[in-house]
Amino acid sequence: MAVATQVFDALVVGGGGAGLRASLQLAQSGLKVAVLSKVFPTRSHTVAAQGGIAAALGNVADDKWLWHMYDTIKGSDYLGDQDAIEFMCKNAAAAIYELEHFGMPFDRLENGKIFQRPFGGMTQNFGESAISRTCAVADRTGHAMLHTLYQRNIQSNTQFFVEWLALDLLRDKDGDVLGVLALEIETGEVHCIRAKATLLATGGAGRIFKASTNAFINTGDGLGMAARAGIPLQDMEFWQFHPTGVLNAGVLITEGVRGEGGYLLNSEGERFMERYAPHAKDLASRDVVSRAIATEIKAGRGVGKNKDAVYLKLDHLGEALINDKLPGIREIAKTFANVDPVKDPIPIVPTVHYMMGGIPTNLQGQVIAPDASGVQAVVNGLYAVGECACVSVHGANRLGSNSLLDLVVFGRAAGDKMVEEVKKDNSHKPLAADAFDKTLARLNRLDTQTQGESVKDVGAALRETMQTHCGVFRFPDLLQSGVVEIDKVAERAKNTVITDKSQVFNTARVDALELDNLVEVALATMHAAEARTESRGAHAREDFMQRDDEKWLTHSLYYREGHRLSYKPVRLKPQTVDSFEPKARVY
Ligand SMILES: Cc1cc2nc3c(=O)[nH]c(=O)nc-3n(C[C@H](O)[C@H](O)[C@H](O)COP(=O)(O)OP(=O)(O)OC[C@H]3O[C@@H](n4cnc5c(N)ncnc54)[C@H](O)[C@@H]3O)c2cc1C
Repeated sequence: MAVATQVFDALVVGGGGAGLRASLQLAQSGLKVAVLSKVFPTRSHTVAAQGGIAAALGNVADDKWLWHMYDTIKGSDYLGDQDAIEFMCKNAAAAIYELEHFGMPFDRLENGKIFQRPFGGMTQNFGESAISRTCAVADRTGHAMLHTLYQRNIQSNTQFFVEWLALDLLRDKDGDVLGVLALEIETGEVHCIRAKATLLATGGAGRIFKASTNAFINTGDGLGMAARAGIPLQDMEFWQFHPTGVLNAGVLITEGVRGEGGYLLNSEGERFMERYAPHAKDLASRDVVSRAIATEIKAGRGVGKNKDAVYLKLDHLGEALINDKLPGIREIAKTFANVDPVKDPIPIVPTVHYMMGGIPTNLQGQVIAPDASGVQAVVNGLYAVGECACVSVHGANRLGSNSLLDLVVFGRAAGDKMVEEVKKDNSHKPLAADAFDKTLARLNRLDTQTQGESVKDVGAALRETMQTHCGVFRFPDLLQSGVVEIDKVAERAKNTVITDKSQVFNTARVDALELDNLVEVALATMHAAEARTESRGAHAREDFMQRDDEKWLTHSLYYREGHRLSYKPVRLKPQTVDSFEPKARVY
């Protein structure tokens, strides 16, 4: 197969919020930068973000970045690295003003300042009371942010490769990353894109589960590419279930609804969150609210035909507020739940939403992996930012509205570091003669195999396995059998066949290649979840119900080779303030 080569200073894989914030930094510094995206950039999942982006601006009530830092550490159940959280919270306000100056149309308060709403786990004065910290553009914040960043990139001459699928990283014998191999989806041609710095910003992987708020494109491609290149995946056992997905549809109802005053009810009409989180109630952190809903349903207090949901009530907010601040939510409820929330409550259920784990990085987005002597070190030429990365600011549970913030703060930081590194050295290292072999063999198998299972069936088995064995609550027998089952699915995935040989725009090939990545993410998740014998944040085990700081205040690192796991300590020392020592987490 002929492979054409293109050469850039810097390459960004992913045109979501993280990729576009980084590429803007690169393009504005005058570098030749390419952004590769498997969908048109403004169709990246960031566009679906509803509720908002957090920063301690103090526009509604007195606020401090240190309080935001405390809330994020507590939200993470103390697994987040405190220096990274400090960096994010300290730089949050500047990131918001920068977006404002880029032209992002934030909602406004009466006095003209940026509007802010309450979100789960966001408090004043170290947990004293809820605070309005989340900046928003109605319930379409991600849409506004992504379009703003895209327009700025166009202005700065970023070069886009739209509907190109990155396949694998190119790593040389020293372990340095020299670019990627990519498939041009329309033509089916394979291209080599060389760069002195490559950034993975490929987003989440919620599609390893059957019920997910994530887009169909969220298949963990960056994680698959990293795992195949020998790079570990960090903290993969931690998946966030968002408390309020529309029953049987998976579509998200933003936490902003509860921020604006909506609340949950069980079949007895009881505001049950008062029992689980007496202080924060419906605005406790997401893992706490999801567990409460699952417990109510299990106790027979669910609503609906199968009693497998609870209600989210917001009619008391009034039609005017709903139309002004939550117009998209009204639309979603009508379309997917067949209810008008101005009159009736929405049936909701906890739904997979966000991957806290990912490719390990430092604060500048540089990827960290073992070097030739096994020591954890920077991988030259490789960076990761956004949901595919684990820096780690979200630890065992992310607070709502902290992801959009993570994208822009670390997107910019990684962009700056890439500029610095690229400008140091003007040469492109040579590629080995066999650099493309493994990837081309993978493509070749897909094109020539005539017998085997369909990609669709194996994908369905993968999603079913994850949904059954790795849910809101995790049971020892289900985890153990889950490992066996997912290993079997991984074997089956090696023997798939493309049945649709018409290859319309190569979509069947893309599905098969995405399955390879879903498999890597699912394996990492299941193996890491089975091994962690404690409950922390979103990882809640029936057989080990307590957090165990003595044994488990550690990040997991999963290696594809042999499904090996190793652990490294959480960084508890911030750079400029005192540590927040782990303590009991109550809301
Ligand atoms: C419904 C929903 C609502 C949310 N609401 C909020 C919110 O209000 N506030 C908040 O903070 N967070 C929210 N989140 C989380 C947040 O939106 C995401 O974590 C974040 O947008 C991810 O951004 P990203 O740039 O990392 O990835 P994405 O926006 O997912 O972008 C990934 C990019 O990578 C590209 N890509 C992937 N694989 C390949 C490949 N192989 N080759 C080429 N390109 C590839 C895609 O084309 C895409 O451009 C929400 C998430 C969802 C699902």
